Amino acid sequence: MKNLKKNSANNFQSDFKAKKSLGQNFLHAPQVISAMVHAGEISKESTVLEIGPGKGVLTEKLLLTEANIIAIEKDDRAISFLKEKFDKEIKNGKLKLIHGDILEFDEIELEKYIIIANIPYYITGEFMRKFLETENQPERIVVTLQKEVAKRIVDKKESILSISVKAYGNPRYLMTVPKKFFRPMPNVDSAVLIIDNISKKFFTDSKIDEKSFFEILKAGFAHKRKVLIRNLEEKIPKKTLEMIWGREGISKNIRAENVTLEMWKRIVGESFLS
Ligand code: SAH
Repeated sequence: MKNLKKNSANNFQSDFKAKKSLGQNFLHAPQVISAMVHAGEISKESTVLEIGPGKGVLTEKLLLTEANIIAIEKDDRAISFLKEKFDKEIKNGKLKLIHGDILEFDEIELEKYIIIANIPYYITGEFMRKFLETENQPERIVVTLQKEVAKRIVDKKESILSISVKAYGNPRYLMTVPKKFFRPMPNVDSAVLIIDNISKKFFTDSKIDEKSFFEILKAGFAHKRKVLIRNLEEKIPKKTLEMIWGREGISKNIRAENVTLEMWKRIVGESFLS
């Protein structure tokens, strides 16, 4: 009997230890998992890209929606584990498991897709840039990230980060996820952030070039102590700025953190015109 048990355990990749280098903190909170799936507004017809499925807790709930799930995972141990766990769903074509690093995928050949992910914190920035800036953007992103970062994205006080996200979609803070909900437990709390209505409309409607927009945005935030108009003088002629400030009735003392996306559109748009 003992032998039998041992054999069956050997055949099955029953579990694996969390690897710090892969940022593995597994979610143990059914309510958070359900809330993330719900926030995805997934229907049977949806295509969902899950990043970093790990041991498949989210994948499992995603499969219940009967959508088509594509899951990309970097860890080969997790891949063997998931292959066993979701054997049936892989065979019936509902789940496609891809072994790879999400940051190395150049082309995402999916149409109208939704991203759901609980990924390591150290790839959040690169992941967001990649999927917000790509020509083939997802419709919606539901992602866990550090609480402080999520708060900064939705804070009334704007930052390069918050404006960059808002230029592509509507971010919403769904819920805080205390660190104790993860195993192993990370050092900081997390939050679930939703970015809805993702598109390039902001740029196409305003005819503002993406690259120039971000260059000007960065310049606007360059020196914290300086007011916006002084910061922007590095990029835009002073005369043009004074004309825009006058026309738009902007206070000379305004700082970048108090400038909304709509105002940025007018400032950058008008500076191109003149
Ligand atoms: N989503 C699971 C696992 C979270 S841990 C859960 O909620 O429990 C983060 C997962 O992302 C791990 O499985 C890790 O192996 C994977 N991962 C880390 N870097 C990755 C990358 N660059 N591309 C794809 N997956 C990655």
